[in-house]
Amino acid sequence: MPIYEYRCRACGHSFEDLAPAGREHRPKCPQCKGREVERVLSVFSGGPRKKAAAPAAGCKPGGGFS
Ligand SMILES: [Zn+2]
Repeated sequence: MPIYEYRCRACGHSFEDLAPAGREHRPKCPQCKGREVERVLSVFSGGPRKKAAAPAAGCKPGGGFS
C-alpha cells in the first residue's frame, strides 16, 4: 500500500498515512482529531502542487490546538 501525505485543513498539521488501494481514505488528523484533511500528492514528484493553498488566518501549523 502506498503511503500518502495528508494535511489537516483545521490546524495545518501534515502527516503520513497508508492508503488502501481502490478506496477513498480519509484519516483523521492525529493532532486535533479533525476530519477535514486533504491528500497531498507532492511526496514523490518533488514539486509542490497544492502548497498554493495558504492556511487560514490564525492557523499556526505545529502550534498547540488547545
Ligand atoms: Zn488538525
